[in-house]
Amino acid sequence: MPELPEVETVRASLARDLVGKKIKAVAVTNGRLVRRHKTAKEFRALVEGHSIKSVQRLGKNLIVALENSTYLVVHLGMSGQLLRAKGPKEPKPKHTHAVVTFVQGGELRYVDPRTFGELYVSRGPVEGADVEISKFARLSIGGDGLALRRAIPELAHLGIDPFEDQIGWDRFAAILRSRSTGLKAVLTDQDIIAGIGNIYADEILFAAGLRFDRESESLSTIEIRRLHRSISEVLTDAIKHGGSTLDDEQFVDPDGNFGSYQQLHQVYGREGLACLQCRQPIARETVRGRSTFYCPKCQS
Ligand SMILES: [Zn+2]
Repeated sequence: MPELPEVETVRASLARDLVGKKIKAVAVTNGRLVRRHKTAKEFRALVEGHSIKSVQRLGKNLIVALENSTYLVVHLGMSGQLLRAKGPKEPKPKHTHAVVTFVQGGELRYVDPRTFGELYVSRGPVEGADVEISKFARLSIGGDGLALRRAIPELAHLGIDPFEDQIGWDRFAAILRSRSTGLKAVLTDQDIIAGIGNIYADEILFAAGLRFDRESESLSTIEIRRLHRSISEVLTDAIKHGGSTLDDEQFVDPDGNFGSYQQLHQVYGREGLACLQCRQPIARETVRGRSTFYCPKCQS
């Protein structure tokens, strides 16, 4: 599943050539993709004819701001891809569920074998109604995150975004100390911290020297600072490498390029291989149906 570094890689690529372009038409061939709307026609009417002002991200969501102050939100789900094409003559990959064409030429295609992803247009907050923003996100002291949540009520529940919300380690400590669950469960809960999934939680916890099942409230100040730093360091590094493309080759950027951060994974997918720090074999445990990789010696 694409996590923050993969979604950010897609965002940066789209921002380079979509800003200023005008959406000519959107062909939706799988209605499930736009399930928040009554009909695909209703969805199309909300985007066609509008120009793109910016491409932003919050958690695992791509946010395409349109010039009429509405937002097209894209979530890639488990296996979604956004792919550029020069025009309709380029062969469409299997599972292409939507094609966006631009007045200036070119296409953007949404491809998703499992169709857990979705596209929708947020019409903004209901007039007079308060948008209830995540109590964790409200701890933020800067960044674009709060403004995005206010503008897009569908995203208001999202917890801290490690880049779009600024939060010092002391406030981060307050969040950790308020939870009594294991650290991996906290890191991957989108309502607490938005953007981290199975792969990066394992890599972050290894970088911080902490086990996935350590109780969140049991961390010392030094451990909290280490975890806080590891989140931004691991994610920043992964973005620099264009995200992770695993053996299933599921993740590609809009030009079809693979990420390369998988080559730098310290624990994820390395069960039985020597830990790169201590040479002990990496262990794997299944927690709530998902694999967790860790070094029994380096993480405590
Ligand atoms: Zn180790």
